[in-house]
Amino acid sequence: MKTVITPGTTKDLLKQYNFKMSKSLGQNFLINEGILDEIISGSELTKEDGVLEIGPGMGALTQKLCESSGKVLAVELDKRLIPILNVTLFGFDNFKLINDDILKINLKEVLQENFGDKPAKVVANLPYYITTPIIMKLLEDKLNLRSITIMVQKEVGDRLKAAPGGKDYGALSVAVQYYSKPTQIAFVPPDSFIPRPEVDSVVIKLDILDKPPVELEDEKMFFRVVKASFGQRRKTLLNALSSGDFGLSKEGIKQLLDSLGIDEKRRGETLSLQEFADIANRIKQNLNK
Ligand code: SAM
Repeated sequence: MKTVITPGTTKDLLKQYNFKMSKSLGQNFLINEGILDEIISGSELTKEDGVLEIGPGMGALTQKLCESSGKVLAVELDKRLIPILNVTLFGFDNFKLINDDILKINLKEVLQENFGDKPAKVVANLPYYITTPIIMKLLEDKLNLRSITIMVQKEVGDRLKAAPGGKDYGALSVAVQYYSKPTQIAFVPPDSFIPRPEVDSVVIKLDILDKPPVELEDEKMFFRVVKASFGQRRKTLLNALSSGDFGLSKEGIKQLLDSLGIDEKRRGETLSLQEFADIANRIKQNLNK
């Protein structure tokens, strides 16, 4: 095993393998040991845990994951990194690499094959160009996961944990908070990476909820209501929902909001998860009449 966490060793390996980092694959490698330790302690790993890492890169985080958990399954798209990972992870018999695109593989099957029925923990320094699709895939596919601890661009982190009413609150906040409880565990400045990204980063932990925080008659309807409400942020709720194809006239939407005590002039970004759920359930009941 060759350790990769210092700027010196990372640069040596890059030189030795003549590795040119790919901006389009979001390759910014972590070189800050303090941050790696914060990710490891924040993700609360035990030797019993199975970990899914997305994008191991040269293996800086992977080495620490192998030391602190039972088994690490890493999915890396860039095949040029395989010979480097063979060196940096040499000696760890609890490490397995899948050379594939995280957005294309059948994660349900892969998790079952590698971890059986035990819920796995995701820990990753994500490639920023596909942050949202990765998060949504992990949550919407209803995988057997206990938690997701991820490095994301600070602006995305702010959206994941945003409360109703602020500029950061949107469809992503609602979706993430429907499935999980987000907590920020670290702030990460650009000089923690090679090369330096242009943005600040944060590490967010999503603890997967045993059951959603709201009761729904129809989950799809809930997400349709959320999408319509945030679709045109400047519109009032009445106008946004009226153009949402819910089989109700504008007057019908008006009456529905009125019956729930929700002011029609409010904007989507002020609504709590419970209020979105109330609207979706009421629309569903109307359709069933
Ligand atoms: N974990 C390493 C670290 O912390 O130093 C590298 C993190 S780097 C921000 C993101 C990694 O994700 C890169 O290694 C990149 O090649 C990989 N990657 C990019 N797109 C991917 C995809 N679609 N599927 C799997 N891995 C991907």
